[in-house]
Amino acid sequence: MKRILVIYTGGTIGMVKDKTTGALHPFDMKKIYEALPVLKELECGIDTLQFDPIIDSSDMHSDVWLRLAKLIGEKYDLYDGFVILHGTDTMSYTASALSFLLDNLSKPVIITGSQLPLGMIRTDGRENIISAVEIAANDEVSIPEVCIFFENKLFRGNRTTKINAEHFEAFYSGNYPSLAKVGINISYKRHLIRELPVERLRVYDRMCDQVAIIKVHPALKREHLETFLSIKDLKGVILETYGSGNAPTADWFINAVGNTISKGVIVLNVTQCKAGSVVMGHYQASTELLKMGVISGGDITTEAALAKLMFVLGNYDDRNEVERMLRSDLRGEITV
Ligand code: ASP
Repeated sequence: MKRILVIYTGGTIGMVKDKTTGALHPFDMKKIYEALPVLKELECGIDTLQFDPIIDSSDMHSDVWLRLAKLIGEKYDLYDGFVILHGTDTMSYTASALSFLLDNLSKPVIITGSQLPLGMIRTDGRENIISAVEIAANDEVSIPEVCIFFENKLFRGNRTTKINAEHFEAFYSGNYPSLAKVGINISYKRHLIRELPVERLRVYDRMCDQVAIIKVHPALKREHLETFLSIKDLKGVILETYGSGNAPTADWFINAVGNTISKGVIVLNVTQCKAGSVVMGHYQASTELLKMGVISGGDITTEAALAKLMFVLGNYDDRNEVERMLRSDLRGEITV
């Protein structure tokens, strides 16, 4: 029988109604079978762990990612798969971070959450937990990836973005198809799932958070950009540009970015679009960026770009190596 570890970090999914007051409060993971008796019918053994304190995912940061990765590393040999219950707001960031921190992953790590608390009648949390556990425990296909399961679809986690604050279909993967769809059956698309690694799991324990995301927009001014770029000890910047990687062509913009790169800061270009790719040099508006040494993020999401930059800067010192890694596909996060 497969053994699954369910880790509850916090978020809407774990909220249940107090029977007397009707107020929502976090549920006790030890009572998961009481909350979802149907889980007993799945042919797997489930153990649970609960963060203390649980956190709203808006409070997520790199220390928690490192803690989660370490926990999975420590429990790795005891379980066949892991399910992480997490708030939806930063779920894509966490999935991306874990994908980089857990190298040579050979077991499924499925992150899920819900838009409505588990304690509400129409909750989507019930189906999401049941399917996430079923997928983590499945015998049919190996899923050596950090995934997000949400509303009938299994996604590669580092390809996702939360796109809806209200609908049950809250996650989107614009540049990579879903890995499985859940209907009457669970249909896995094996050819899209990563291959089993040859080497053993390596858990990384460092991330650099001296990074910033700067979104270009029509009201962006010289002072704003220069203020951001003058942050002390800044090591990396994600420049969220228009379309296929285009940014203002004004001298103040080009000079500010160029000076930043010459100070040794890495600048990674990602698109604000929800699908498609940065192709620098395609238009005049990105040719200068290319010449200055801005790195193309290709079709990476902003969430994955942030996690990748933090991971690469945290673990590699040599600038050429950092740039090479940012351009490479490390965990299926970009199309190369
Ligand atoms: N604010 C919550 C969180 O991300 C929302 C949710 O769980 O969906 O933790």
